[in-house]
Amino acid sequence: MPIQRIILVFATNNQNKVKEIRSILAEPFEIITLTEAGIDIDIPEPHDSLEANASEKSGTIHQLTAKNCFSEDTGLEVDALNGEPGVKSARYAGEGRDFQDNINKLLANLSNQSNRRARFRTVVSLIWEEKEYLFEGICEGQITLDQKGLQGFGYDPIFIPDGASVTFAEMTMEEKNKFSHRKKAIAKLVNFLQTKLHE
Ligand code: IMP
Repeated sequence: MPIQRIILVFATNNQNKVKEIRSILAEPFEIITLTEAGIDIDIPEPHDSLEANASEKSGTIHQLTAKNCFSEDTGLEVDALNGEPGVKSARYAGEGRDFQDNINKLLANLSNQSNRRARFRTVVSLIWEEKEYLFEGICEGQITLDQKGLQGFGYDPIFIPDGASVTFAEMTMEEKNKFSHRKKAIAKLVNFLQTKLHE
C-alpha cells in the first residue's frame, strides 16, 4: 500500500528553520513553505510569550490557506539576565534583527558574569483538523565567552549545549539535531501525528 503523505504548511520565512526542520521530518511528512504556498507576508510576533506568538503565526497562516499547518517560536533564556532576551531574541539589539548585533549585545551584557547558564526554548503550534496543539522543546547549555563556528544561525556561535564541548555553530546540522530544542519539539509533533493517524 502506498504511504499516505502528510502535508503541513510551515508558517515561517526563516530559511534556516526550514532547512533544519526538513532535515528532521522524514516521510510521510512533507513541508510546504510559505513561498511555495504563494504567501508573502511578514508574520507578526507581537506577544510577550513564545506560546502566543507561535499561535498567532499558525493562526494567521491557517486563515490564509485553510490547510493543516504549524509554526514555531524560539527564545534564548539567559539566567543571569533574568531570562532575557527570551521572546525578544530576534530583536534584542534592534529592529534590524541582525544576528551579529544580537550576539555582540548579549556578550557585552554578560561580560564579568560567571553564571553563563542559558537555554533555548522552542514552542511549536500545530493546527491539525481545525484544532490547535502546542509542543515544547528545551535545550540547556552555556553561553561562551567568545563566539566560535560558522554553521547554523542566530545565537548558535555562542551556545554550547550540555553534553557537548563545541558551539552549535561548530556542529553539522545532524550534530545540532542531537541536542536541539527545535528537534525535541518537532519530535513531539511527529509522535502526536503518528498517534492520531493510527487512532
Ligand atoms: P524567532 O523564533 O524566529 O522569533 O527567533 C528568535 C531569535 O532566536 C532569532 O534571532 C533567531 O535567530 C534566534 N534563534 C532561533 N532559533 C535558534 C537556534 O536554533 N539557534 C540559534 N539562534 C536561534
